[in-house]
Amino acid sequence: MPGIIERYRERLPFASGDPVISLQEGSTPLILAERLSEKAGVEVWLKIEGANPTGSFKDRGMTCAVSAAVREGAEAVICASTGNTAASAAAYAARAGLRGAVIVPEGKIATGKLAQALIHGARVVALRGNFDEALRLVRELVHRHPISLVNSVNDFRIEGQKTAAFEIVEDLAGELDALCIPVGNAGNITSYWKGFQEILPPTHQPRMCGFQAAGAAPLVHGKPVEHPETVASAIRIGNPARWEEAMDAMTSSGGTVKAVTDAEILAAYRLLASAEGVFCEPASAASVAGLLTHGAGEGVRRVVCVLTGHGLKDPQTALEHAGAVVPCDPELSAIERAVLR
Ligand SMILES: *Cc1c(COP(=O)(O)O)cnc(C)c1O
Repeated sequence: MPGIIERYRERLPFASGDPVISLQEGSTPLILAERLSEKAGVEVWLKIEGANPTGSFKDRGMTCAVSAAVREGAEAVICASTGNTAASAAAYAARAGLRGAVIVPEGKIATGKLAQALIHGARVVALRGNFDEALRLVRELVHRHPISLVNSVNDFRIEGQKTAAFEIVEDLAGELDALCIPVGNAGNITSYWKGFQEILPPTHQPRMCGFQAAGAAPLVHGKPVEHPETVASAIRIGNPARWEEAMDAMTSSGGTVKAVTDAEILAAYRLLASAEGVFCEPASAASVAGLLTHGAGEGVRRVVCVLTGHGLKDPQTALEHAGAVVPCDPELSAIERAVLR
């Protein structure tokens, strides 16, 4: 499959001669989760966004944001990030031959994401502050310098990310009742809603069910959270940039925004890995935790849960919440005891 700009060019703001910076993102698997369906009492499909080139859905938006930056003649791109935007921006900047700078909250980013941003050659700046402060600062910075901002406040990001909705509609022939999705800065739920509205008739829109971590749930409380805290670092955000649009998506679709605790997130995270063979990162599991805890609404039969990022991004959390390694002497009887126990 080509990348999303080539696959969906007629629905994206790119003409045929425009530069395209792509790693063949998109066209990710949508898989039926039978055990989870049984547990949830509805048919559950998983959109595996961790299968994108840098391991998260951010690549869909980044191919568009970086291609547009090249078209505009930018020399560098910058973002504030809880990790995945940084990894993606760094990779696409490298591919485009642009300089990349990423501002991350110090000590609050998963190991894999940090490794990605660094190995792709981005300048990684650890801010002694949280994501919301980082975003505020980069927005000021790009007013003063000719650097392209590739956070989801950039409309090209929304355009690219809406293509995931197109893929789901194609794969399910337009038949889905609800979408469950984690919400952090609220760009992705905005993107899906835009995508669905562009290709489905108004009577056929799925309910948009957004889930936030309980310690970082500004949309649920109706006010910013000053010190957001959750194990799901990708959605540790207290003041979402796409606040109004996300609320509009959920209200106009008859959906909801609800909170899930870290314990619920981690239970869903382990369940996906052990019962479905799908390893996502903690933030991604908020979609499934939300479905299991709150349901997706009356009359809903088929649900798509968006698994936004790959589990390998955050090996630390996996090791902390999985079983222990079994030590063993190099003897047959010992191996037997260790394996068959
Ligand atoms: C960015 C991200 C989110 C949140 O998406 P928003 O557009 O900020 O709401 C959720 N999960 C993962 C893995 C992410 O990288």
